[in-house]
Amino acid sequence: MALAEHAVYRTEFEPRPSPEALVIHCSDPRYQFHFQEFLRQHLGLDTYELIAVPGGPQFLTAMEFLPKFSWVGWRWVKFLVDVAKPTRVILIGHEGCRWYKSLHLLRRQAEMRRLEERDLHTVAAELKERFSALALEKYFARHEGEHVVFELVR
Ligand SMILES: [Zn+2]
Repeated sequence: MALAEHAVYRTEFEPRPSPEALVIHCSDPRYQFHFQEFLRQHLGLDTYELIAVPGGPQFLTAMEFLPKFSWVGWRWVKFLVDVAKPTRVILIGHEGCRWYKSLHLLRRQAEMRRLEERDLHTVAAELKERFSALALEKYFARHEGEHVVFELVR
Protein backbone atom coordinates (compact mmCIF):
# COMPACT_ATOMS: atom_id res chain seq x y z
CA MET A 1 0.00 0.00 0.00
CA ALA A 2 1.32 3.44 -0.88
CA LEU A 3 1.98 5.82 1.99
CA ALA A 4 -0.55 8.56 2.54
CA GLU A 5 0.82 12.06 2.30
CA HIS A 6 2.84 12.97 5.42
CA ALA A 7 2.62 9.39 6.69
CA VAL A 8 5.76 7.40 7.51
CA TYR A 9 6.62 3.73 7.74
CA ARG A 10 9.19 2.62 10.33
CA THR A 11 11.42 -0.42 10.32
CA GLU A 12 13.55 -1.76 13.14
CA PHE A 13 17.08 -0.44 12.93
CA GLU A 14 19.94 -2.67 14.01
CA PRO A 15 23.56 -1.77 13.41
CA ARG A 16 25.13 -4.48 11.24
CA PRO A 17 28.72 -5.62 11.10
CA SER A 18 30.71 -4.79 7.97
CA PRO A 19 29.73 -7.19 5.23
CA GLU A 20 32.31 -9.86 4.47
CA ALA A 21 30.93 -10.61 1.03
CA LEU A 22 29.97 -8.98 -2.21
CA VAL A 23 27.15 -10.87 -3.92
CA ILE A 24 26.25 -10.56 -7.58
CA HIS A 25 23.06 -12.22 -8.72
CA CYS A 26 20.13 -11.70 -11.05
CA SER A 27 17.29 -9.38 -10.07
CA ASP A 28 14.68 -11.95 -11.18
CA PRO A 29 11.82 -11.69 -8.66
CA ARG A 30 11.14 -15.44 -8.92
CA TYR A 31 14.55 -16.16 -7.39
CA GLN A 32 15.07 -13.23 -5.00
CA PHE A 33 13.67 -14.95 -1.94
CA HIS A 34 15.63 -18.14 -2.66
CA PHE A 35 18.88 -16.26 -3.13
CA GLN A 36 18.34 -14.45 0.17
CA GLU A 37 17.55 -17.66 2.02
CA PHE A 38 20.62 -19.42 0.59
CA LEU A 39 22.90 -16.49 1.43
CA ARG A 40 21.54 -16.03 4.95
CA GLN A 41 20.68 -19.55 6.05
CA HIS A 42 23.26 -21.63 4.24
CA LEU A 43 26.23 -19.30 3.78
CA GLY A 44 25.52 -17.55 7.07
CA LEU A 45 25.78 -14.05 5.63
CA ASP A 46 23.85 -11.72 7.87
CA THR A 47 24.54 -8.80 5.60
CA TYR A 48 26.34 -8.43 2.28
CA GLU A 49 27.07 -5.94 -0.46
CA LEU A 50 24.78 -6.66 -3.38
CA ILE A 51 24.60 -6.02 -7.09
CA ALA A 52 21.33 -7.43 -8.42
CA VAL A 53 20.74 -6.74 -12.10
CA PRO A 54 19.09 -8.72 -14.91
CA GLY A 55 21.43 -11.61 -15.78
CA GLY A 56 23.53 -11.18 -12.63
CA PRO A 57 27.28 -11.46 -13.28
CA GLN A 58 26.73 -11.59 -17.05
CA PHE A 59 27.03 -7.80 -17.31
CA LEU A 60 30.71 -8.10 -16.36
CA THR A 61 31.43 -10.24 -19.43
CA ALA A 62 30.12 -7.73 -21.96
CA MET A 63 33.34 -5.77 -22.50
CA GLU A 64 33.42 -6.59 -26.21
CA PHE A 65 29.83 -6.18 -27.34
CA LEU A 66 28.49 -3.81 -24.67
CA PRO A 67 31.59 -1.98 -23.47
CA LYS A 68 29.83 0.89 -21.68
CA PHE A 69 27.56 -1.52 -19.87
CA SER A 70 30.50 -3.58 -18.73
CA TRP A 71 32.52 -0.50 -17.77
CA VAL A 72 29.76 0.62 -15.42
CA GLY A 73 29.58 -2.85 -13.92
CA TRP A 74 33.29 -3.03 -13.19
CA ARG A 75 33.13 0.50 -11.78
CA TRP A 76 30.40 -0.63 -9.32
CA VAL A 77 32.41 -3.70 -8.38
CA LYS A 78 35.55 -1.64 -7.77
CA PHE A 79 33.58 0.87 -5.73
CA LEU A 80 32.09 -1.85 -3.51
CA VAL A 81 35.42 -3.65 -3.10
CA ASP A 82 37.12 -0.37 -2.16
CA VAL A 83 34.44 0.84 0.20
CA ALA A 84 33.39 -2.40 1.90
CA LYS A 85 36.60 -4.42 1.62
CA PRO A 86 34.84 -7.78 1.30
CA THR A 87 36.91 -10.95 1.54
CA ARG A 88 34.57 -13.06 -0.60
CA VAL A 89 32.69 -12.58 -3.81
CA ILE A 90 29.70 -14.80 -4.47
CA LEU A 91 28.41 -15.12 -8.01
CA ILE A 92 25.07 -16.80 -8.62
CA GLY A 93 23.52 -17.82 -11.92
CA HIS A 94 20.09 -19.35 -12.22
CA GLU A 95 17.98 -21.54 -14.46
CA GLY A 96 15.48 -19.96 -16.81
CA CYS A 97 17.10 -16.54 -16.69
CA ARG A 98 15.04 -14.18 -18.80
CA TRP A 99 18.08 -12.02 -19.55
CA TYR A 100 19.98 -14.98 -20.96
CA LYS A 101 16.93 -15.98 -22.95
CA SER A 102 16.80 -12.50 -24.45
CA LEU A 103 20.50 -12.67 -25.39
CA HIS A 104 20.57 -16.22 -26.67
CA LEU A 105 17.32 -16.89 -28.47
CA LEU A 106 16.24 -20.47 -29.12
CA ARG A 107 18.86 -22.12 -26.93
CA ARG A 108 17.95 -25.24 -25.03
CA GLN A 109 18.02 -25.23 -21.23
CA ALA A 110 21.19 -27.34 -20.94
CA GLU A 111 22.96 -25.09 -23.43
CA MET A 112 21.81 -22.01 -21.54
CA ARG A 113 23.24 -23.42 -18.34
CA ARG A 114 26.58 -24.04 -20.06
CA LEU A 115 26.61 -20.43 -21.23
CA GLU A 116 25.80 -19.16 -17.74
CA GLU A 117 28.49 -21.32 -16.16
CA ARG A 118 30.99 -20.19 -18.77
CA ASP A 119 30.18 -16.58 -17.86
CA LEU A 120 30.55 -17.34 -14.13
CA HIS A 121 34.03 -18.73 -14.85
CA THR A 122 34.92 -15.73 -17.02
CA VAL A 123 33.83 -13.23 -14.38
CA ALA A 124 35.54 -15.17 -11.57
CA ALA A 125 38.81 -15.23 -13.54
CA GLU A 126 38.60 -11.50 -14.24
CA LEU A 127 37.81 -10.77 -10.57
CA LYS A 128 40.81 -12.85 -9.53
CA GLU A 129 43.02 -10.86 -11.87
CA ARG A 130 41.73 -7.48 -10.70
CA PHE A 131 41.35 -8.26 -6.97
CA SER A 132 43.67 -11.16 -6.21
CA ALA A 133 42.95 -11.25 -2.46
CA LEU A 134 39.27 -12.05 -2.90
CA ALA A 135 37.94 -15.58 -2.42
CA LEU A 136 35.50 -16.46 -5.19
CA GLU A 137 32.48 -18.72 -5.06
CA LYS A 138 30.21 -19.61 -7.95
CA TYR A 139 26.77 -21.15 -7.65
CA PHE A 140 23.97 -22.12 -9.97
CA ALA A 141 20.36 -22.18 -8.75
CA ARG A 142 17.74 -24.33 -10.42
CA HIS A 143 14.14 -25.20 -9.83
CA GLU A 144 13.40 -28.80 -8.80
CA GLY A 145 9.85 -29.69 -7.80
CA GLU A 146 8.98 -27.64 -4.76
CA HIS A 147 12.53 -26.47 -4.17
CA VAL A 148 15.23 -24.31 -5.59
CA VAL A 149 18.52 -26.21 -5.52
CA PHE A 150 21.89 -24.45 -5.30
CA GLU A 151 24.95 -26.18 -6.73
CA LEU A 152 28.57 -25.19 -6.57
CA VAL A 153 29.95 -24.39 -10.02
CA ARG A 154 33.46 -25.83 -10.43
ZN1 LIG B 1 17.90 -14.05 -14.33
